[in-house]
Amino acid sequence: MSNYDYDLFVIGAGSGGVRASRMAKIHGAEKVAIAEEYRPGGTCVIRGCVPKKFLVYASEFSKSFKLAEGFGWSVGETAFDWSKLIRNKDDEIGRLSGIYARNLANTGVDLIEDRAELLDAHTIKLVKSGRTVTADKILIAVGGTPFIPDIEGAELGITSNEAFDLEDLPKHIVIAGGGYIACEFAQIFAGLGVDVCQVYRGDTVLRGFDDDIRSTVHEELVRSGVRVITHSVFEKIEDLGEGQKRVHLDNGQHVDADVVMYAIGRVPYVDGLGLDKAGVELDPAGAIKVDAYSKTSVDNIYAVGDVTNRVNLTPVAIREGAAFAATVFDNKPTAYDHNDIASAVFTQPPVGSVGLSEADARKKYAQIDIYKTSFRPMKQSFSNDASRMMMKLVVDGETERVLGVHIVGPDAPEMIQLAGIAVKAGLTKDQYDAACAVHPTSAEELVTMKEKWTPPELKAAE
Ligand code: FAD
Repeated sequence: MSNYDYDLFVIGAGSGGVRASRMAKIHGAEKVAIAEEYRPGGTCVIRGCVPKKFLVYASEFSKSFKLAEGFGWSVGETAFDWSKLIRNKDDEIGRLSGIYARNLANTGVDLIEDRAELLDAHTIKLVKSGRTVTADKILIAVGGTPFIPDIEGAELGITSNEAFDLEDLPKHIVIAGGGYIACEFAQIFAGLGVDVCQVYRGDTVLRGFDDDIRSTVHEELVRSGVRVITHSVFEKIEDLGEGQKRVHLDNGQHVDADVVMYAIGRVPYVDGLGLDKAGVELDPAGAIKVDAYSKTSVDNIYAVGDVTNRVNLTPVAIREGAAFAATVFDNKPTAYDHNDIASAVFTQPPVGSVGLSEADARKKYAQIDIYKTSFRPMKQSFSNDASRMMMKLVVDGETERVLGVHIVGPDAPEMIQLAGIAVKAGLTKDQYDAACAVHPTSAEELVTMKEKWTPPELKAAE
């Protein structure tokens, strides 16, 4: 019999924490509790992936109406009701959050709706109730929080958290950032008719992705009406009254808007968590340091998900949570493999990407072959929509193994889930080509690209 109140206490009922707590119980942990300070389901369900995708769907209709005309439809006058969308979104996330809570209860995990903080390596304080509980093992799964810049007038801006609950659709919005959340929101609002300005400190959005994805998405942002200002950051925000703000940029320009949004990154949500009291160490970026089994610097304390800043995606947090439970409660040491994780960006058109970018592959391998294509999707044949589909395979020239697949275009997120299986399995270009094409689709290009692409600088040297 353990002397602790719980065998496992999980802090944070988001993607990682919920999976870990339920799996620990299934593997035989007797007493498991999970604390949640906001709403069960975490960022993904409440103010991340799920509500974001609802907003993307809403935004895409404006383009569909235009395409429909080419196929013979007369689309009458259209109108958009932001309040209705937000109401429906809230109903659905309420339903999903309820399912999370019920699943925890059905598995026998105690859901404690309170903020939890560590007092030492085995003791947790529940802030609202003032109660103190003890646990043999503790899992920290508190996720991340948006980074807010330290500038004059910063309090006049919002983050993605508030963007999901705006009372009114903005008329003008200025968004800081060039990462996936900034790009997705820029096009969500543009598709809903908002005048959007996106300010980014680099020269091309989506740092970290393959360069062809980056340049294609950048062009598409501009094509969709987003005014993109590069090489620039917010310097201060001024309140002009009557809901208007003026954003002063460091390049001397200013942009006026009724909503100002920061999407300049997320940081591990560790403030006030009591990590120092328990002896849990952080890395220089402020994330909890863990080993391959998600164990922190303290033997009985583990951490999974965004708070460890490995790969900050929902399915990764879930897998890390499951691996933790298998390691600690099923006696099966399991280190989750973070290589070749497929991911999507829900821009318009969207992105699907898995494996190495061309630039990273060239650093690691002696010979890299590139196969790529860019074309206008068939569905746009009867419209003047000039947006392009881009597909690219990064191949190890010596073994023929496909190291990376990068796609921008309709359905790219759906395609990349399957391409991800092939990349993870280590299949070669020949094996891709052995698969018969599905016609007429865009995806067929993945198995029919024959000609190697040579970068212009290498071509010149030939
Ligand atoms: P979270 O899901 O953030 O859960 C942490 C939970 O802990 C929260 O519910 C929080 O309230 C709670 N908590 C924090 N501190 C305490 C405390 N002291 N006591 C009690 N409770 C506490 N990922 C994708 O894979 N695909 C996407 O399309 C995608 N889109 C996104 C869009 C946006 C706008 C954002 C912000 C994120 C998106 N993500 C997406 C990322 C994804 O949401 C995260 O990677 C994922 O939620 C991380 O899970 P987690 O378990 O680490 O933390």
